Amino acid sequence: MHMPDPVTPEDGDAESGAPAPEDQVLAEQEMKRRQAEADMEMPIVSALKETSTDPIQAVRYKATDSFCFHCHKGVKCWNECCYDTDIALTPYDILRLARHFEARPEAIVRLFAAPAVHDKSGMPIAKLRMIDKGGPKNPCVFLDEEEGCTVYEHRPAACRYYPLGLAAIKMKGHDEPEDFHFLVKEPHCKGHEEKREQTVAGFRREQGVEPYDEQNRGWIYVLMKLASWKTLGGPWGKEPDERTKKMFYMASTDIDAFRRFVFNSSFLDRYAVEPAMREELAMNDEALLALAFDWLRNVLFNEPTVALKQEVLQQAIAKAQRDMGAG
Ligand code: SF4
Ligand code: SF4
Repeated sequence: MHMPDPVTPEDGDAESGAPAPEDQVLAEQEMKRRQAEADMEMPIVSALKETSTDPIQAVRYKATDSFCFHCHKGVKCWNECCYDTDIALTPYDILRLARHFEARPEAIVRLFAAPAVHDKSGMPIAKLRMIDKGGPKNPCVFLDEEEGCTVYEHRPAACRYYPLGLAAIKMKGHDEPEDFHFLVKEPHCKGHEEKREQTVAGFRREQGVEPYDEQNRGWIYVLMKLASWKTLGGPWGKEPDERTKKMFYMASTDIDAFRRFVFNSSFLDRYAVEPAMREELAMNDEALLALAFDWLRNVLFNEPTVALKQEVLQQAIAKAQRDMGAG
């Protein structure tokens, strides 16, 4: 696979911290956009699963709120939700499935996923593959129609959350969006008729979603932010370019390719990464995932999530000053 170099400070891009003149105009537009964003209440919907429930109209559940639901082998609808389901595979889903099959992420995506576009943000993602068996319903690639989910210990985040949805809303006057849950009530799901009552926090604990939330944080942040900005104009008024979209897909689905990009391109010459962290990045997929989405946040939104080396920064500032006739 061709590994593009990171966008360089010489491009006068968002990473240098010293925008080129044309970017100053864009920066002013961006400031206006942020002010407009701060003044509106804006829903940012879940990145994980398309559902029939509209999260914006739905009742918002806090961690301490309770709901009645129980899914078990005795329900009439056992496995119904594992047919023709629309599930985005998160980067951590892919890592966990890779561990389940003792394979690497690239093979998991090649065998069990299909490329798609995340509707709300326009970014490329991988979705769980359904199998066309020629019948009326298409089962998930991991479904054993007798026994249920064959990857249960490592099932994706969306399967763990169901029937809860995860969404966020940015309230007027607040900088950061707030997460909330909502209940997805689909007619086929009889688990809602069961008497078992639990809190949102208890259900989340039982389903083991915490590590998924933690490891997918950067990926969800990027999707949600782009989804919200799609209604107001993209970052700096622009859509992410094709190269950035490709990098996002690579980081999301093939962490080994992203590792080769970090170690074989000029990345480590440009960014301040401590030697101990370099060792970690060479071995640890989760650490690399965190870096990938910190870097993308920097590239896409100009957030200070990764630091350029001092000498690279100085060169970029000097170049920007020369370009502006001040150097
Ligand atoms: S991964 Fe498992 S729980 Fe999720 S849809 Fe497939 S079979 Fe069902
Ligand atoms: S449809 Fe609902 S109750 Fe039935 S198996 Fe799926 S989650 Fe459980």
